[in-house]
Amino acid sequence: MNILLLGSGGREHAFAWKLTQSPLCDTLLVAPGNAGTAQVATNVPVSATDFPAIADLIRTRSIDLLIVGPEEPLVKGVVDYMRQQPDLAKLPIVGPDAEGAQLEGSKDFSKQFMQRHGIPTAASQTFTADTLNEGLAYLESHSLPIVLKADGLAAGKGVIIAETVAEAQQTLTDMLSNGRFGSAGNKVVIEQFLRGIELSVFVLSDGVNYKILPEAKDYKRIGEGDTGPNTGGMGAVSPVVFATPSFLSKVEEKVVKPTLAGLQQDGIQYRGFIFIGLMKVNGEPYVIEYNARMGDPETEVVLPRIQTDFAELMMAAAQGKLANIDLQVSPQTAVTTVVVSGGYPDGYETGKIISELDRLEDVTAFHAGTKAEDGQILTNGGRVLVLTAQANSLENAVRKSQEAARRVQFDGKQYRKDIGLDLIRYSD
Ligand code: AMP
Repeated sequence: MNILLLGSGGREHAFAWKLTQSPLCDTLLVAPGNAGTAQVATNVPVSATDFPAIADLIRTRSIDLLIVGPEEPLVKGVVDYMRQQPDLAKLPIVGPDAEGAQLEGSKDFSKQFMQRHGIPTAASQTFTADTLNEGLAYLESHSLPIVLKADGLAAGKGVIIAETVAEAQQTLTDMLSNGRFGSAGNKVVIEQFLRGIELSVFVLSDGVNYKILPEAKDYKRIGEGDTGPNTGGMGAVSPVVFATPSFLSKVEEKVVKPTLAGLQQDGIQYRGFIFIGLMKVNGEPYVIEYNARMGDPETEVVLPRIQTDFAELMMAAAQGKLANIDLQVSPQTAVTTVVVSGGYPDGYETGKIISELDRLEDVTAFHAGTKAEDGQILTNGGRVLVLTAQANSLENAVRKSQEAARRVQFDGKQYRKDIGLDLIRYSD
């Protein structure tokens, strides 16, 4: 089959790497891709949000399957656009339509969805500019810390955990009256703070049937010991030691099944990934957020563990045939370390020459922000490389991933040296 994959990050390199291992994949195009996807597939210089150009590509390159990596094209309606083209209306697509993608595109929509369908989540209330005063009063009568979430997409930065009432009130005012986060902050969800440990569970849905993919834990903060500002993600581990079989069966019964049933009840045919951000609180799962796509860097530890033919799995999800698939998962542990540019997540320089990349051993080096120029690979983003190792033990996977991060070189290189260490030390 001929496959078109949208996106340009480490997640898409991992998808491309996995898809091209399948004998079913004849051609893989990535729009727009990066230097890593170019090593295994063909990049085409088309933006993931240029829907007419994507439709043309599908026609001229006889694409059989479209896979949407990032959230932006989903929330902007790439699936709806294709459905409106008479000749592409039945094209198999992995990714929900704009309404399904609202699970990620609007925190208020997702909270209402969870409340409507009895899915465990933190108590919350939503406010707008018209109800700012009620919001300010609400903050005075609720316990601290308290969580404020910009309703719309804010590149992972729209969640503020306020420690004082004054900070919470200032944040609410900034979002609703002063345009912080732009239109994404026109509505704000104020949510009870949950104290627990976080993990992510990934579900692949074909609209009716589903498969639960390997779970993962990610490391969002820039600094060791989970300090400093949030980033796109500095590392990830799968499986997660505290995701015990009994906890995962609670997740399936209390979260996954009601989520899928809720989508059907609401008339949303959801074909794609649902990334469920969870907090484990006293052994019980609570949903912190949904995303309408796979996580990055979680994909880089989840996909390597999937043993089922990945092109077949994707096509089955897109065609409503997941019931035919027997999902096989490797028992090995996968650990990834993200190597970032100096200064990230604030300002950083790009264009630095990356060396030692071809001498890494026992890891898969996924490219996130890179570009190829004059036969060299240069840095081209904040997150540069995502280095995944697999091993029979968590300790060995950590060691191999970290060794690769130590080895690869570019000016200003930075990475966290504590990925997975909390899980090695973890005890209930
Ligand atoms: P989100 O963008 O929704 O994933 O939120 C970013 C981060 O904020 C999450 O990964 C959590 O660490 C934290 N967070 C979000 N909601 C809550 C909550 N209700 N209680 C505690 N922490 C939260």
